[in-house]
Amino acid sequence: MTPVEALEQVVHYLDRAHDTGFKAKAFVRALDVARSVPGDELVARASAGTLTELDGIGDSSARVIREAIAGERSYLDTLDSKTRVPVTDAGARYREALRGDLHLHSRWSDGGATIEAMARTAIALGHEYMVLTDHSPRLTVAHGLSAERLAQQLVDVAALNERLAPFRILSGIEVDILEDGTLDHDDDVLAGLDVVVASVHSKLRMAHDEMTERMVRAVRSPHVDILGHCTGRMIGKRDPSTFDVDAVFTACAESRTAVEINCRPERLDPPRPMLQRAVELGCWFSIDSDAHSTGQLEWQPKGCDRAAEVGVPIDRIINSLPLDGLRRWVAGE
Ligand SMILES: [Zn+2]
Ligand SMILES: [Zn+2]
Repeated sequence: MTPVEALEQVVHYLDRAHDTGFKAKAFVRALDVARSVPGDELVARASAGTLTELDGIGDSSARVIREAIAGERSYLDTLDSKTRVPVTDAGARYREALRGDLHLHSRWSDGGATIEAMARTAIALGHEYMVLTDHSPRLTVAHGLSAERLAQQLVDVAALNERLAPFRILSGIEVDILEDGTLDHDDDVLAGLDVVVASVHSKLRMAHDEMTERMVRAVRSPHVDILGHCTGRMIGKRDPSTFDVDAVFTACAESRTAVEINCRPERLDPPRPMLQRAVELGCWFSIDSDAHSTGQLEWQPKGCDRAAEVGVPIDRIINSLPLDGLRRWVAGE
């Protein structure tokens, strides 16, 4: 393992622990520095004990670099065991059933990692496929993808698929649900994608009846396969949106739009009682990380635990299907 790879691993571990503190930021900075310094220089500095003279390399990052050069990984192993994402026994059954992740972001929008890095991590986690769902244009703060940029992205995805086979990156998008329930891309753009996640990111405080109408219209679109983080809540920061839960989930069940169980720790959306109602109404589900970095791809156990608590039937979870089964489900077969 090279010093850069070792530091990448540290950042990955801290990220899966949702550590955004000083130490995590310092390691991200150290990784940038290590990437910009020739490998020979790192080796020379490691033996001379002058790594910390580099601006941005502190005691901990110097240790990671020295260990990588020496072929050791005691810092990494300790951090690995300290940052593992816990899962209950009941949740582990769900996690074992998952074959892919249907909602994740790359650097093309507001993610921090390349598509390839996300795919390689997904492979390491045992996935057979992932759906790349960067944002749509309306979400300008997240560098949402225009139709042109999306087309460019698909060229990259095709090339990666040749190299990473049999793993499969499916094309997709997290398309914004606009205020009137229409979607932030034209039908022909959405029709060309494998999987479409639709989410509300604006006007989350809309009145109950209007929000219901907006969401029902969106999930009834023949292009929409998954309703992302349906309440938009941010735990401790933003209350859930209000809407007629039965009307929205009935529309999801009727139009084969899966209800996402969003695994981000600040979202964990939908809340349990609502998730319970979706089960009762016969919905389909997907358990998705909504990862914006490689470490966050490890968050699926959080949603698996909730699915287990509520008793979501595993055979209603679309990312427990093998690739061809998922494709058939999306096609309505
Ligand atoms: Zn979103
Ligand atoms: Zn997302």
